[in-house]
Amino acid sequence: MPQYEYFCQKCQREVTVPMTISQHDKGGVVCPQCGGRELRPLVGSFFAQTSRKS
Ligand SMILES: [Zn+2]
Repeated sequence: MPQYEYFCQKCQREVTVPMTISQHDKGGVVCPQCGGRELRPLVGSFFAQTSRKS
């Protein structure tokens, strides 16, 4: 499962969120620490753990 890094505005820290691509496309990402939705994507810190070719 791919992991995405975000900066949580509530926690004031970076969090790593594992989720499926379909979940990411829907934008239903929540902070694993506080459950908040105020997450800002960290550009350039995407871990591609999928075999899907682009
Ligand atoms: Zn949080």
